[in-house]
Formats: sequence, C-alpha cells, structure tokens
Amino acid sequence: MNIPQTRVHQIPGMGFSNAFVVELDGQGLAVIDTGTSGKEKKILEYVASLGRKPADVSFIVLTHPDADHSGSVAALKRLTGARLAIGELDAPRLSGEKKLKEARGFGRLMLGVFGSMMKVERVKADLELEDGASVGPLTVIGTPGHTDGSVSLYLPGTAIFVGDLLRTDGSGKLKLASANMSRDMEEVKRSVEKISKLEFQQLLPGHGLPIQEGASKKLRDFVTNGFKSARGQ
Ligand SMILES: [Zn+2]
Repeated sequence: MNIPQTRVHQIPGMGFSNAFVVELDGQGLAVIDTGTSGKEKKILEYVASLGRKPADVSFIVLTHPDADHSGSVAALKRLTGARLAIGELDAPRLSGEKKLKEARGFGRLMLGVFGSMMKVERVKADLELEDGASVGPLTVIGTPGHTDGSVSLYLPGTAIFVGDLLRTDGSGKLKLASANMSRDMEEVKRSVEKISKLEFQQLLPGHGLPIQEGASKKLRDFVTNGFKSARGQ
C-alpha cells in the first residue's frame, strides 16, 4: 500500500510488524524497521518495485531492537550495504552487549515461549541516534518507555514513525504501547505527550493500520482523553 501524496511507503506483505520506505531527496532510500526474520526479500522486492536497487538503500533505521522489528536487519544490511541506525541506549541490545529484551509479568512469560522462535542475529549499529539527530530529512525524537532507547522518526509536517510507542487497532484507533511488553508506561505516556506537540498528517505505528491524515490532532485528542481513543473516533 502506498500512502498517497508523500514519499513514504508501507512495505506490503510484512505480516505482523510494519516496515516502511522513505525516499530521501538525492540520498537514496531509508528503510524503517525490518520485521521478523526472513523478510529481507520482501523488503528488496518492494525496493525493486520502486525502480531502485538494493544499493540505493542508504539507511536502515530501527525504532527499537525487538525481534519483531530487527529480525531481518542483519541480512538486509549485508544485501544493501546500508548504514544501520538505532537509538543510542538500544544499540547495546542489538549488538548483544546487553540482553535483547527485558519484560515483566505476562510479557516475560511470552518472551520465554516465543523468544526461541524469534532469533535475532546480533549486529552492530553504524549510527547511535540521540534525540534531535537527523537521518537525511528525518528528525530523531527520543521516545523512551517501550524500550529505553526507542526513537520516533519525524518528517516535519508530514509523518511520524513511532515504532511500538503507540499501536492502532483494526479500525485505526490509537492505543498505548503494550504494558506487558514495555519497560515503563509512565515514560511511554511522557513520550506520547512529547510527540503530540508536533505537527504531522500521518502516524505510522509498528503494529496496526497507519493513520493517514489529521494524525497529530487525533493524537492530541487521545492525550486529552487520558490516553484513550474517544468513542466513535
Ligand atoms: Zn513490536
């Protein structure tokens, strides 16, 4: 599916986790998140459908290192030669210096069950992103809470990629990050408040349907409503 009137594309056929391509003026392409393992072919098929070569992917940016977003990153990096970027506090989890994921309660149980099915090849990032950094036209917004180093990527006035800070349901209603799978829900809320002050048409989550228009207004209403989607919205 192409999101109209922008240089932002959602990669089709990725299954459970979303991944996106952003066209960078004169600087190739950025792939944002890479889904579960074995998705590198799907990603490169989509790049080819844009008339571009693997080597045109100049950046791979991960919103956070969870296995359902980083599963194909090592393979995609090898196939494209792209530079890999991730939030600085999450870089040691991707490289294997720290445990990939820590979770509480039910989340810990789920990780025990599914962790072995979601093996991630460890990889060292080329760029460790701080709040306010730039990757081409994308501004890095530090949005910790789901993980310590989670980042959102902001195309001013146009779009924001939020990773697992927010989700949407089947009808596009906003929901907070999953409490069981997140480090700190109070920090999640502070990060949502932080991005609700920005202006964007589209909000592109790691799971669920993207919001195609009027997204910053919808997000402000969500915050005002106590981090819940109002009825009928
Ligand atoms: Zn996820």
